[in-house]
Formats: sequence, structure tokens, C-alpha cells
Amino acid sequence: QAKKHGKDRYEVFEPAMREAFQANIELEADLRRAVLRHEFQLRYQPIVHLHTGEITGVEALIRWQHPERGVIPPMEFIPLAEETGMIVPIGEWVLREATSRVAEWNRKRLGPPLSVSVNISAVQLDQTALPQVVRDALDTAGMQPDRLILELTESLLVEHRPATLDRLHEIKRIGVRLAIDDFGTGYSSLAYLRRFPVDIIKIDKSFVDDVVDEPTAAALTHGIIQLGRALQLSTIAEGIEHASQLTSLAGGDCELGQGYYFAEPLTHGALDDLLFPTDVPPSECE
Ligand code: C2E
Ligand code: MG
Ligand code: MG
Ligand code: MG
Repeated sequence: QAKKHGKDRYEVFEPAMREAFQANIELEADLRRAVLRHEFQLRYQPIVHLHTGEITGVEALIRWQHPERGVIPPMEFIPLAEETGMIVPIGEWVLREATSRVAEWNRKRLGPPLSVSVNISAVQLDQTALPQVVRDALDTAGMQPDRLILELTESLLVEHRPATLDRLHEIKRIGVRLAIDDFGTGYSSLAYLRRFPVDIIKIDKSFVDDVVDEPTAAALTHGIIQLGRALQLSTIAEGIEHASQLTSLAGGDCELGQGYYFAEPLTHGALDDLLFPTDVPPSECE
């Protein structure tokens, strides 16, 4: 009886497991091909000054343009890219592409140069070559180091090895700035502020979501903003979708923000149009 039960369970679970396993193998093969065939693209989400509405920078967000499956969001392939080490060449491409595009915009643009924020995985930070990769990308792009912001997640900092801290200091010496992404979601966020040489706190979207309706979320959000001020760090609120959230954040002295309320992550062309609106067509001038 027990054996039969075991066999039944085996039969119930095996097909699903095998399917998942095969899907993963397929995705991995596709991902290897994607690296060779340059199937990745970047979107750029504006980061806005909450009091003036001015765009101060952009966050580069990767997309995979799969030939059959269409656009695949990062959450569906970054974990596999990290497991397989493919994040290293992919991440290097992101750094080069993002810095050269934004440097190009800055050369065309009047007014203060935009910053560019790039997400970095733990696997990339494990590479001794990362500081040199960063320097190369900046040199090739012709970008001032302080215009580049590397975004680190708390999980990256939790699992850090001793070498991580040295590498972060080495990167800081280039003049690049560091941000803690999704701040407040990890279990010892405050400890990282002491241990790591960060310049910017990005308040996680989950706080912003509830900042209007939930007194606890509001208190925590405004507490994070005050903490940032006390430590002379800037704060960026993530995932602002409504005017009421903007009012609450700006009233609480949060300096910068990003979210669908201002703009979604935009293609290179769409951001170009936003930064450099073309002249009104001649017919409409008359
Ligand atoms: P993240 O760095 O926290 O990026 C913010 C995410 O929130 C982005 O999702 C963005 O599209 C989304 N978002 C921004 N504003 C709003 C809003 O108002 N409402 C909602 N619902 N969402 C908003 P995306 O582009 O899907 O990226 C997801 C995550 O993937 C990123 O989270 C980041 O951790 C990772 N990622 C993206 N690009 C890269 C990359 O080039 N390298 C690495 N290692 N990770 C990346
Ligand atoms: Mg980010
Ligand atoms: Mg984030
Ligand atoms: Mg996030």
C-alpha cells in the first residue's frame, strides 16, 4: 500500500518536475544564444526632482527581446543569468551601453548632466575585474565618474564576502556613487549604512505603495528620509504611481523619485523625444 502511494506520488510530481527542468535547460540555451546575438535592450526610467519636476537622471533597466517569446522582463532571466555566470558579460554590456547612451545625451543637453543608475548583481561584485570594467566603460563613454550610480540590493550586501567591501571601496575611489536598492526590505538595513560606503538610499516601492493610507508605512518612510538627511545621503522613492504619494513624499522632504506617475521605463528613442522635444511640425506653426 505504502509502495503504491509512493509510486502515485512519483507519477504526480515527475511530469511537472521534468517540464520545469526542461524549460530551464531551454531557457539557458536561449540565454547563451541571446548573449552572442545581442538580444538585450535597455529601458531608461527618469528619476525626477520631486519639488521641481526636473529629470536629474535615469535608471537603466534590462529587457530581453526574445525572437519567439517577445520581451522578457529581468525577473524571468536575471536569476538564471546569475546562477550560470552569464550575468558577468550581460552586466558588462549594460554598463557600457548605459554609460555611452547617457554620455551622448549629456553632450547634446543644456543644463546639468544626467546621472545613470545601473543595477549590479552579487556575482558581478565577486569579480576582481569589476572596477576595471567600470573604469573602461566610463572612459569609452567619456562620462564623469560621479554621473554613474551603481545600485546594490540588500541581499547582495547580506551575502557579502570580505572581498566585497574592499571592492566597493575600490569602486568608490573611481568616483562612482553607490545606492542601496529596495531599502527597508532586508532584515538589517541599518547595519549596511554603517558598513558600506553608500551615497544614496532607494526607498522600496512597498513603502511608497502604502504611504498615503497606512500610518505605519508613512512613519517608516518619513523616518527613512530623515535618516538619509542625518547621514547626508540622498533618498530616491521608488514606484510613485499617484499624485497623493508624491505630495506625501515631497512634503516629507524626499528629494528624488521615480515611478509610473512620472514615466515608465522608456526606450532609448522615447527618452530622446522626452529630453529633446522636436519642433512643432511646420503646418501647425502657421
Ligand atoms: P529595481 O532595480 O528595483 O527596479 C525597479 C523596478 O520597478 C523596475 O522593474 C521598474 O520597471 C519598476 N517600476 C518603476 N516604477 C514603477 C511603478 O510606478 N510601478 C510599478 N509597478 N513598477 C515600477 P523591472 O524593469 O521589471 O526590473 C525588475 C528588477 O530587475 C530591478 O528592480 C532590478 O533588481 C533587476 N534588474 C533590472 N535591470 C537589471 C540589470 O541590468 N542588471 C541586474 N543585475 N538586474 C537588473
Ligand atoms: Mg534598481
Ligand atoms: Mg529598486
Ligand atoms: Mg525594487
